[in-house]
Amino acid sequence: MIERILDKKLAEEARSFPYKTRSGGATVTVFVPYDCRNNCPFCVNKEEYADCTGFSLAAILKSIERMDRLTPYCDFVFTGGEPLANLTSLQTMLDNVSDTHKIFINTTLPVSREQSEEEILSFLNRNKDKITCLNISRHMQHFVQESNDGLLAKLPVRFRINCVLYKNYPKEKLIPFMERFRKVHAPSIQFRFDYTETTPENLYDEAHDKILQDLKEVAEYTGLDGCRMRCGFHFAYKDLELVYHKTLPYSTIFEKDDQGTMYAILYDILIKQTGRIDSDWDGTVMDVDKYAHVTYEPYDLKWLERVPRRAEAAEEEMSFAGEACSAS
Ligand code: SF4
Repeated sequence: MIERILDKKLAEEARSFPYKTRSGGATVTVFVPYDCRNNCPFCVNKEEYADCTGFSLAAILKSIERMDRLTPYCDFVFTGGEPLANLTSLQTMLDNVSDTHKIFINTTLPVSREQSEEEILSFLNRNKDKITCLNISRHMQHFVQESNDGLLAKLPVRFRINCVLYKNYPKEKLIPFMERFRKVHAPSIQFRFDYTETTPENLYDEAHDKILQDLKEVAEYTGLDGCRMRCGFHFAYKDLELVYHKTLPYSTIFEKDDQGTMYAILYDILIKQTGRIDSDWDGTVMDVDKYAHVTYEPYDLKWLERVPRRAEAAEEEMSFAGEACSAS
């Protein structure tokens, strides 16, 4: 039985539920203590950067060390704000994450008068063994200040394009958008549903999902993976991997086990700009001592459907790979 506790009294009671999480530990998302220069309409973090009172790099570092000790094999995500807006601070934070973790960075790849392309490239080069993937925001509507696409082609680390398909996005621009990133050899694009609109009812809904239908018109559907919290509809467009990602707007799911014990199952743990450790996006503070005794379960994310690619598409991909090879 899966329940989301909305009632205040029940929410209070939920504090006493023991924690459960996936083997390896919940993902730790670190909010850097400095902002970005954008104002995306779907952003839920912007407000938190309006008042920087209490923001503390030192407190964040302490919390990173604490989570590093508790779950030495969990994933870390740096987000903001803009992690790459202050390379010195980001370096200090990265230096405090042990090499046992995978590290992902959400960024717009900001280039400005104060920070050149060369500085970003040299930072990424220095940390290329540490960074698992850069998730670079680029949207079909012009929400973020973008650096030159040429920079993407020079990145020394793996990257993925993240694109929120927001409200009335221009469907006719899907193919030009994908072609734009093929040119710089982006390996994949993750299209995202506005997660503030995701509910348990529409998470896996296919029939009424306009984005899913639009993608099926322009790309080849190859499968679906998912868990209680999120799912990904996979596609291929020529040599580009696409995922249409949907996730619920919270990070804890309440569920009874077979013995009737209610657990708070954590998917994401947040280190806020003040260093506070939260167990959900709504300001729920985590009981870190309780998390030290968390019960682990196997990660429930799995393939739910796999569809082999059509032969002609695979051939086209191979011939493209050949062209790319001989061109280099
Ligand atoms: S770039 Fe990211 S942090 Fe900045 S406004 Fe957009 S979504 Fe929010």
